[in-house]
Amino acid sequence: MAQPPMLAILSFVTPASEVYRKAQRAHAKALGIRTREEAAPERVTQAEVERIVQAWNADPAVHGIFVHQPMPPQIDAQRLSGLIDPRKDVEGIHPQNSARRFFAKARIGSCTALAIMELIESTGMDLAGKEAVVVGHSEIVGRPVSMLLLDKLATTTVCHVGTDRAGRLEEHVRRADVLVVAVGRPHFIKGEWIKPGSIVIDVGINVVDQHVVGDVEFEPARARAAFISPVPGGVGPVTVMMVMKNTIEAFKLQQRA
Ligand code: NAP
Repeated sequence: MAQPPMLAILSFVTPASEVYRKAQRAHAKALGIRTREEAAPERVTQAEVERIVQAWNADPAVHGIFVHQPMPPQIDAQRLSGLIDPRKDVEGIHPQNSARRFFAKARIGSCTALAIMELIESTGMDLAGKEAVVVGHSEIVGRPVSMLLLDKLATTTVCHVGTDRAGRLEEHVRRADVLVVAVGRPHFIKGEWIKPGSIVIDVGINVVDQHVVGDVEFEPARARAAFISPVPGGVGPVTVMMVMKNTIEAFKLQQRA
């Protein structure tokens, strides 16, 4: 009989990553997923991290590979993502998986974007024709989630630093039936901008006075939104579950090969 799925996790030694590692370990254990971990020192070299990933690629006992972000500045994150075997890429960041998402044919989706969609869909809102506004266009959050919103036929606007510089961020946010914010600036989106009855998904993780806060002014936004995801306790835990789901998908994919 085949062994249960195995998730290999490469992280960099920082306090924030230890919290995330713990959550991954606990969820994996609860689901019967085995884990293997490498905690690289902050001064690890590109060659060293590439060696770790390539060893996991070649090891048939490893079904999923997850590399923590942000990576230290000396690591070329894009190059490292491209080295992960796309069938083991449980974050959905390999260019092959990104390309499949573009054609709405993803086998393994971006775990954060999938978590955001899970939260939106749990509200029961039919997204077809709704105004969706995504603030932030990063490769791991803003871009993939905007593709998934398009797949659901939401009229999707992606805002970024150019929108803000043009002084037009507020006007886009104000008309959002669904707002997704992934910028990484505390309380960047003002509560009074939130459209009454909307869905607000706050992806940002910021530490202010030793407290974790999101990118949206939570209390005033909560007073206007129909649904809002808190920080902490919103997108984060669902993302961890999506990594586990992707690990199981990757395992099935490899059993079929
Ligand atoms: P990132 O790569 O730094 O991207 C931030 C995005 O925000 C960029 O697209 C940037 O646009 C945009 N931005 C910066 N300043 C802006 C402004 N003034 N107005 C509008 N847009 C602006 O970060 P990320 O990886 O997407 O992460 C974003 C946040 O989500 C972070 O706090 C991160 O910790 C959190 N996060 C949470 C999870 C989770 O599971 N909960 C997962 C991933 C990330 P430009 O590139 O044009 O400057």
